Amino acid sequence: MNEFRSLADLLDLQALDSAIDRLLEERSGLPELERFKAAHEEAAAIGADLARLEGELTTTRRALDKAEGELEILEQKATVTEQRLYAGGMNARETEHMQADVAMLKHQVGDQEEAVLVLIDQRESLDEQVSGRSSDHEQALAAKGELEAAIKEAWSRIDAEIARKEARKSDLVPSIDDDLVALYEKSREAHAGVGVGALENETCGACHVGLSPREVAVLKREEFPRCVHCNRLLVI
Ligand SMILES: [Zn+2]
Repeated sequence: MNEFRSLADLLDLQALDSAIDRLLEERSGLPELERFKAAHEEAAAIGADLARLEGELTTTRRALDKAEGELEILEQKATVTEQRLYAGGMNARETEHMQADVAMLKHQVGDQEEAVLVLIDQRESLDEQVSGRSSDHEQALAAKGELEAAIKEAWSRIDAEIARKEARKSDLVPSIDDDLVALYEKSREAHAGVGVGALENETCGACHVGLSPREVAVLKREEFPRCVHCNRLLVI
């Protein structure tokens, strides 16, 4: 009769295994996982865009520094040339040349001022874009962080629950015949996680198909009865 008692214990083992399976399914199917993946991708895309804009800003700042330096040199050149022109002491031909130099330098100063203004506009626009993208990035990282925390919390709750069920399994399994546990595991593997059912009202509790009184009578004589329909172990 000890074997029969063990067979009935399989139902308790099955209940624990099914509960663990459900918890594992819940663990890998958390809705936050999909949302975390999307949040991670969004934060990465915004981060890449931000890095690109920051790169452009650095390049523009350097170009602006250079253009401002060149403008200063041109302005100095124009001032010095103009001062020499006003100082006089040159013949008409030299004066004419110098006037042409001053005019050319002033024209170059004007062009350079334009170039500096364009770069200032570009820098201001990039400053704004970088600032906007930075705040987008912070928000995206915060959303990702919240989801990560929610997932960790859910996982830790689920893992603790699994650990409790595993502990109960460890207490239960030694009381069941080793061969029977092996049969159950094999049957569980072959039948989508459910290896054993209880016969209730002449019906298999695993596949829910009825057995005739004759079939039940035959099964009652077997050491390890199996449902004639689904072939799972049957506790009669
Ligand atoms: Zn069945």
